[in-house]
Parts: sequence; structure tokens; C-alpha cells
Amino acid sequence: MNNNGFLSNIIPTTSRREFIKKSTAGLVTALAAPTILSCANSNETKKEKLGLALMGLGYYSTDILAPSIQMCKNTYLAGIVTGTPSKTETWKAKYNLKDENIYNYDNFDEIAKNKEIDIVYVVLPNSMHKEFTIRAAKAGKHVICEKPMAVTSEDCREMIKACKDNNVQLSIGYRMHYEPYTQEIMRLARDKDFGDIRQISVGAGFNMTSFDHWKARKELGGGAMMDMGVYSLQAARYSTGEEPISVSAQTFYIRPDNFEADEITSFQLQFPSGTVANCETGFHANFNYLKVYCVNGWYELDPFSSYNGIKGKKSKGEFNFPEVNQQARQMDEFAWCILNDKPMRVTGEEGLKDIVVVEKIRESIAQGGKTIMI
Ligand code: NAD
Repeated sequence: MNNNGFLSNIIPTTSRREFIKKSTAGLVTALAAPTILSCANSNETKKEKLGLALMGLGYYSTDILAPSIQMCKNTYLAGIVTGTPSKTETWKAKYNLKDENIYNYDNFDEIAKNKEIDIVYVVLPNSMHKEFTIRAAKAGKHVICEKPMAVTSEDCREMIKACKDNNVQLSIGYRMHYEPYTQEIMRLARDKDFGDIRQISVGAGFNMTSFDHWKARKELGGGAMMDMGVYSLQAARYSTGEEPISVSAQTFYIRPDNFEADEITSFQLQFPSGTVANCETGFHANFNYLKVYCVNGWYELDPFSSYNGIKGKKSKGEFNFPEVNQQARQMDEFAWCILNDKPMRVTGEEGLKDIVVVEKIRESIAQGGKTIMI
């Protein structure tokens, strides 16, 4: 796992109070044009703040990312990419966007000529991540791609290659890596305060009732495993700091008529040290827990992957951290790393690792839950 903890000390954390104040006030005031700094020994100019375009203006962009970016110091909302013209006016007015920074999926490639937009954040249905990450990379834009990275590991590899070939940075929207309780779970995996980790129980799911949503459909990359299941899988990996060596998995349906993609998936991972993780996900109920059992104690987060309200307990000692805006930290650090030429905390390779396991999970399910080596 790439866990450059030092970066969290460099990027200032904005408090939740500050966030609530800003987002309820509204009111996103006109954004100041980004300052341009002169480079000492060249005619080129270096930006102080990078322009970001959100692509796909659904729930996550509208309710979470756009308000969160208002808290960022190193990036600002400069543009949008949308296939729904009726959304344009609302976004333009709310976020003071320029006409020339508004794109649709057909004219998107023209973004290559736009000097104000440095980053494209792909927030589309999962099956569309590959196409638009590659198109953004070819347009010379840095890319944040939402989780899960793509539908297949082959797609992930093509996305990584496109970003490398076009000399742009790629990160995946794994917001938990920027969250202090989660960072403590990663530290415990390294330092083993409670001795060797023996067993992990983790589950993330919600009760889905909009059955016509793309998340219920296979061809758009839907299904519980691709949605909340990725949180369970990520947690099993960062709680051990190891990569799984085998997996067995099962899928169940409570409402088979409503789900073309998986409704409930359980999977068991085995790690090289002998640690076993029992993981579950589903669209049938609301649950969100992570429990880590070690030779000399235990610790847990419940919930572990929510946007806020994460709570921790340890068999011994305190487990309390301040609440942060995960998405603001994530986007701010991405921009900061580009501006300062630093490595990304969450790389495309990190997204690929999960999809490699997801493919083995699919293989195990297809073979009736057989244990598959990874
Ligand atoms: P959503 O359905 O609310 O939004 C999807 C957007 O894509 C909509 O604006 C829709 O108009 C657009 N779109 C374009 N082509 C489409 C098509 N063929 N079918 C359906 N929609 C189409 O979804 P969302 O919840 O915003 O999720 C978008 C992405 O963000 C997904 O990859 C999801 O996994 C991810 N996500 C991440 C988090 C997180 O916490 N990191 C949270 C929610 C969603």
C-alpha cells in the first residue's frame, strides 16, 4: 500500500465547522481567478491553484464533491462535463463557471485546448471510467477517477498506460486514505501495537430501493461488489498491509427480480501471514463495520467508511480523531502533489490491485465458491 503519511502533515486540514459554514452559507461565492506565479528562471508561469472539471453531475458530484472543493486551497472548480444540458445553467450560476469551461461528452476532447482546466475528475457510471480517463489523459489532463477504477484489470492497465504515455497523473477516489481513523488502522497494520493480526471482519452495504438505477445493472459496472464491496476489500487490504493470496466468494439474492448485477456478496480472503478476512457487501441492508482481531487485543471502526461520524474502539487505549472533509483533503492533496511534483498517495496501481481481486471473486462465484489463488 502506498501510504505516504507525511503528506497529511503538509496539507492543511480544513475543519468540519469551516465546511458547514461555507456550504450552508451558500453559497459559493465567486471564485477568485487563480493566482499565477512567475517561475524564477524561465518564461513559463506556474499556477498556484489548479482548475478541476467534474465529469458526470450525479449524486456524488452534486451533493459531495462540488461543495467539498470549495474548501480546497490547491484546486478550484473551473468546469464541468455533462450530458444533461438542463444542469448547465444551475451549475454555472451556483459555481460561477465560464461558458467556455462547460463541455459535453461529444465535445469533451476539445478540453485539450483549455488552459484553465488541469484536472478532470471522472464521476460517471463504472463502465464509463475507462473511456473517459483515457480521453482525459490524451487531452493532457491529470485524472482522478472514481472507485472502482474500472470493470476489468485489463481496462485498469490501459488507463494507467494512457496516463503514463501522456505524462499526466492518475489517482482513484479512495477517500478513506485521507481519513485519520483509517490512517490509524493502516499504522496499526505496520506497527502491530496489538500483535499479529489474525482475523478481520468487514462489511459495507446499504438498502437500495431504486432498482432502475445503473448500480443494479451489469453492463454499466453495477452490483454490490463494485459499489460498497470495494470498501470492504480495500479495508481488508489496508488493515493487514498485505495483498491477499486466495479468495472464495458467494453471491445471494433476496430480490432477484430487481437485480441483474449482484445484490449480496460475501468473500473470504487469505493473506500471506495467515490472516483471514471475512468480508461482506450488499444492497439489502445498511451496515458498515470493520473489526480487527489480533493476538493481544482488537480494534474496530463502526462505521468505517462513511463521509462522517466514524467511531473507533480499541481493547486498550483511546481511538479518537477529529472529523475531516475526506473529499476536500483528497482533491487538495492530489492538486498539491501535482504542483509540488510529489508522488500520489493513491495511484492507479492501487485501483488495479482491487480489480484483480474482484475478478478472482467473480471467478470463485462462477465456480460455486471455489477457492481461487490470486
Ligand atoms: P449517479 O447515478 O448519481 O450519477 C452518475 C452520473 O453519470 C449522472 O450525472 C448521469 O447523468 C451520468 N451518466 C452518463 N452516462 C450515463 C449512463 N449511460 N447511465 C447512467 N448515468 C449516466 O451516480 P453516483 O453515485 O454519482 O456515482 C458516480 C461514480 O462515483 C461511480 O463510479 C460511483 O462508484 C462513484 N461514487 C463514489 C463515492 C465515494 O464515496 N467515493 C460515492 C458515490 C459514488
